[in-house]
Amino acid sequence: LKPCLCLDIGGSKIRSAVVTHDGRVVAWEQEPTCARNGAEGVFENICRVLERLLERNNLCISQFEALSAAVAGGIDMPNGLVTQSPHLPVWRDVPLRDMLAERYLKTFLINDASAAALAEHKLGAGRGVKNLVYLTVSTGIGGGIIINDELYLGQSGCAGEIGHMCLDINGTEDVCGNVGCLETLASGTAIVRRVQAELAGGEFSLLSERFKADYSALTAEDIGRAASEGDRLCQGVIRRAGEYLGIGLAGIANIFNPELIILGGGVSKLGEIFIEPARKMLFKRAFRLAGDDVRLVASFLGDNAGVTGAALYAYGCLGGGGKPS
Ligand code: BGC
Repeated sequence: LKPCLCLDIGGSKIRSAVVTHDGRVVAWEQEPTCARNGAEGVFENICRVLERLLERNNLCISQFEALSAAVAGGIDMPNGLVTQSPHLPVWRDVPLRDMLAERYLKTFLINDASAAALAEHKLGAGRGVKNLVYLTVSTGIGGGIIINDELYLGQSGCAGEIGHMCLDINGTEDVCGNVGCLETLASGTAIVRRVQAELAGGEFSLLSERFKADYSALTAEDIGRAASEGDRLCQGVIRRAGEYLGIGLAGIANIFNPELIILGGGVSKLGEIFIEPARKMLFKRAFRLAGDDVRLVASFLGDNAGVTGAALYAYGCLGGGGKPS
């Protein structure tokens, strides 16, 4: 089998990769999504990061089995549409499958967290585990669900939108239009917003000196770095976000009673300062039988989970008459 040309299209970054049939990432490129450039701007960036991958590695389209894209958003799988992608503004019912297929080759679409769940289950932290939930905590929060060794996609491919579970009916408006979603409380975006608000209110932080009062370019990574250098404000905001995540995880444990919950995405790289409060809250809040046995671990495949899962999904469809194997 030829390799697959894969994409992971997130709210902050787009990654392209060459992935072999056994899930090895042999080359990759990445660049910012630049969602502010609108739907067409994002599509141009997608094409650029794909074409750069081909050029730098002297490859051409005919050397690939298929193109497969993991996308941060709801996917209407039968029709190949990105129905709603809250962090890629104005992406509503975008026929991304056909747009990519017309320009390149046969294309598959899958949600980014579902793809990562598939990859972690086959090749990563979830190997040998029958029931698991993968959670990506990044610009937004998304989920991928494995039930009895199979990816659960729901009726049309949108299962696992865990980040849009409402935790606070009086909360902040989310980009999806709802209020108080888990991702408004525990995502990278939420952490940045909270720190920005505290700093604007005059709170002291190591970041005050570094950013000279313009915090518009602040990232969750900057906040993580400041926290590891002992910054109290940043530590507090990260811990609080971890606790909110834990409340969300308790809900997941109650619904799915999984053996394992895998945390991936950029924000989970903050490590124990974020994960430990999440774990504590998970065990404190979950219904006893559901929460007792679940283990919470970090992703094994990291930034390659999305592209790897996209490839596995495509190979499953190609070999199994439309069903991921
Ligand atoms: C989207 C999900 C996605 C997640 C992480 C959420 O806002 O709705 O589909 O998986 O962000 O990228």
